[in-house]
Amino acid sequence: MDESAEKEKAEQDQPSPKETTLKEWGHRLPCGTVDTTTGQLVKDIIFRPWNLRRERQLGKLKTSSAADSVMTFASAVLTVMCTKLGHIRPGFDEAGGLKMKPQEFAELRLQTSNLVLEDVLYTWLLLRREAIGPDLEVDGNCPHCRQEVHVYADLDTTTVKYVDSMEETFWTYTLRDPLQIRGKEISELRFGPARWSVLEHTKASGIDTGGQKSDLILGSIEEVDQLGKVALLETELDEMSKRDVEKIVAEMDARAIGPDMRVEFTCRQCFRVAKIQIPWDYDTFFSCGRSAR
Ligand SMILES: [Zn+2]
Repeated sequence: MDESAEKEKAEQDQPSPKETTLKEWGHRLPCGTVDTTTGQLVKDIIFRPWNLRRERQLGKLKTSSAADSVMTFASAVLTVMCTKLGHIRPGFDEAGGLKMKPQEFAELRLQTSNLVLEDVLYTWLLLRREAIGPDLEVDGNCPHCRQEVHVYADLDTTTVKYVDSMEETFWTYTLRDPLQIRGKEISELRFGPARWSVLEHTKASGIDTGGQKSDLILGSIEEVDQLGKVALLETELDEMSKRDVEKIVAEMDARAIGPDMRVEFTCRQCFRVAKIQIPWDYDTFFSCGRSAR
């Protein structure tokens, strides 16, 4: 076995997340937050009832700075709609919900943003399922022949990957082309799950765009060989080679937990099976009509 084959084998030996469906998994976070006393993951998701009062509250939120991007708005909505999210427990009651102090709300929202990215995405999906139902219609184009397609999706069948312990989310990557960082030659990076906040400063409406690769890589590095747990600057990864970037992104995809935000269909024109992205921006996702993308 040559050196690179050995490296690949070592990477494949690291444990991978387990798989289920949204219907089976229910009101639990795919990752969760760590209870500092027991070391166990807390996974509970409890929603408030979504009624007209809540609708008004969300409407108000939508005109505030919380709605600056799809990402910041999602964490704000979940802060309003959840009474429990891992260890985060918004402390206001049903009647006092609307009167939460701005400072209090900002602190809770920050905690929500600090959840593992896929936990936020999953909760978003589950909230849609609970408030409106599992059926979703998606308009888009076949990725093979560009034919316009109209696809019926059932959120209950969404594939969800989950972990039982935080350790399962960490993995080590050996760089094919070592990097010079802070005067050291770095050949190994330790990765963990990215936080939702990594995406919040981007204005993009999806998480699959190329421009976000570097944000996600940077936001997922837990530890750097020889330097320990340091927060790297974006520019410190500038010299990372294309083949390392692509390998890392592929590895992240393979290890990603949370929901698969794509729906499978067979194209009526070219008869090929393909997947299209479920649009999850607030206005289309949380309505009963068709979702155009
Ligand atoms: Zn097609």
